[in-house]
Amino acid sequence: MDKHQSLLRRLSGIFAATAMLSVAMTAFATSEIVVYSARNEQLIKPLFDAYTKETGTTIKFLTDKEGPLLQKLKAEGANTPADILITVDAGNLWQASNLGLLQPVKSKTLLDNVPAHLRDPANQWFGLSVRARTIIYNKDKVKPAALSTYEDLGNPKWKDRLCLRTSKAVYNQSLVAMMINEYGEPKTEKIVKSWVANLATSPLSNDTRAMEAVAAGQCDMTVVNTYYYGALMKKKPKLPLAIFWPNQNTKDSGVHVNISGAGVTRHAKHRADAVKFLEWMSSEKAQNLLADANMEYPVNPKVKTDAEVAAWGEFKQNPINVVKAGELQATAVKLMDRVRYK
Ligand code: FE
Repeated sequence: MDKHQSLLRRLSGIFAATAMLSVAMTAFATSEIVVYSARNEQLIKPLFDAYTKETGTTIKFLTDKEGPLLQKLKAEGANTPADILITVDAGNLWQASNLGLLQPVKSKTLLDNVPAHLRDPANQWFGLSVRARTIIYNKDKVKPAALSTYEDLGNPKWKDRLCLRTSKAVYNQSLVAMMINEYGEPKTEKIVKSWVANLATSPLSNDTRAMEAVAAGQCDMTVVNTYYYGALMKKKPKLPLAIFWPNQNTKDSGVHVNISGAGVTRHAKHRADAVKFLEWMSSEKAQNLLADANMEYPVNPKVKTDAEVAAWGEFKQNPINVVKAGELQATAVKLMDRVRYK
């Protein structure tokens, strides 16, 4: 064997070994997806761990506020490592799709598990949990029979008795956007103006502060997401607060709901695995993990609500598609500005 042949043999040996190694690696390869999440680690990590345990797919994730995450996705463009974006509020998800950061997903599982009004009509994002934005009142000061609708919070009988969270919060922008969709702009403007006229104090920085003001007697009622009520009452069970479900008469359209949700990023590198993960998130197991951990409602109607949450009572849900929260967000912000809702 000459030198040349020997080199060839050695080379082909190396090639064979490399080929075998790569086959082996493929056989044992575990897939991986990358998630950008505006929901905190404490809430989402148990879900990721459960998914990895069940499927072998590992999940890398980064948590931050939705603003910075959207900016990051935008700046990274086609080079983003992110396959999935998770965030709260349809207004935020709509912003992400409007910025071209998401892509449509075709999945019968998601269409089956997520009701039509809780997902993007263009399938770029899907609700994963439901949050109800409802009235919380002081039991010592208000008889629930005196309460009725969101609109009625502007009734002169509640003068100096209402507290509201700031209009800078996306939750209230979404609420007003949904009202604009339902009543039109002139009527919504009248309603929001009448709320402002009833304010007992300038708008509060968050839902919990607003409820604490009600409990402290600064005002008698406010509008918040129910999971904040759940968390606060767990910490301070003696607060004189109770839930009221507005707009429940036959002619009324129900309690305003919003979602937390997710979409596959425009430039996802692991698209198929990302879709599989979203589908799993809509399954019974994941739905319970996600909704119960934050005292929210499952988005999948086949999944049972946590007993503690169910104890707050049943209510009729406003069936407007939550995409309106995004589409009418700018209109809502301008309207709130006009009536000096700070
Ligand atoms: Fe929240």
